Amino acid sequence: MIKHIGVVGAGQMGNGIAHVCAVAGYAVTLVDVNQEAIDRGLKTLGGNLDRQVAKNIITADQRAAAVGRIKTSLDYAAFKDCDLVIEASPENEALKREIYKKLCPNLKADALVASNTSSISITRLAAMTDRPAKFIGMHFMNPVPVMKLVEIIRGIATSEETFKEIRDLTVKLGKSAAVAEDFPAFIVNRILLPMINEAVYTLYEGVGNVESIDTAMKLGANHPMGPLELADFIGLDTCLAVMHVLYDGLADSKYRPCPLLVKYVEAGWLGRKTKRGFYDYNGEKPVPTR
Ligand code: NAD
Repeated sequence: MIKHIGVVGAGQMGNGIAHVCAVAGYAVTLVDVNQEAIDRGLKTLGGNLDRQVAKNIITADQRAAAVGRIKTSLDYAAFKDCDLVIEASPENEALKREIYKKLCPNLKADALVASNTSSISITRLAAMTDRPAKFIGMHFMNPVPVMKLVEIIRGIATSEETFKEIRDLTVKLGKSAAVAEDFPAFIVNRILLPMINEAVYTLYEGVGNVESIDTAMKLGANHPMGPLELADFIGLDTCLAVMHVLYDGLADSKYRPCPLLVKYVEAGWLGRKTKRGFYDYNGEKPVPTR
């Protein structure tokens, strides 16, 4: 039974995963490479818990209890008692390989490992570990405390037992599961990212401007956010990385990343996180950059 959950990476996704696990009553150990990353993650986590208290989603006592369940460390040895470790390090296959190499010797023999990867093959990641049957994809959505879905992806070697444990955990975290097969970018990003890429083509070809494209999709397709606004939220580097995974993994030209998306990433205009993408976030209100 899962009681103690480890999280690798205290970034955007990792602190959100730690948050929902702690609120659901699990002991949480959060590990990152440097103290600044942990401090930043804990600050975000605290702010998000405050917001949930203000909205009466949790009580002040539940907030305090959740915070009390979270321990942090810079050392993978802190994972030694974990029943499950969820890896939420940057979307870089070589880096994830290094992480598993260091992580596995620090785990209990029966501990499960899940990756929050948005697009990398679960079968390939599993093969980098000493426990492919106990490895699975657990793809949370951003922001984790708010979004209800977890995509669960079985690699070719993932055991039925591992799958059932992770599906049960997803429910206990208050989330709903969608089960996806292990193909590039799974379900959500397989559908969402080509749409965003197409929105960037629409901008590139001058069919519309940033404002008209986002307004069209919000009011015309009933999307809560326009595709370009959403791209800025996800991070344009992440969007480009997923398009590369689709293009390389499925070898179909329909997944060709839009040259304008490439140019924005080359310029370091990565969206909200750099305060500039399809919108400029330096002022009071986001303003289209073109
Ligand atoms: P992020 O850059 O915000 O956070 C990654 C964290 O990992 C950083 O704090 C970094 O310091 C830490 N890290 C780097 N190397 C490490 C190591 N060796 N050991 C421990 N920690 C290390 O990235 P993110 O947006 O949180 O993405 C994490 C994962 O989640 C990626 O695989 C990404 O594809 C996936 N994902 C992201 C989103 C999203 O919208 N951002 C959504 C779903 C899934």
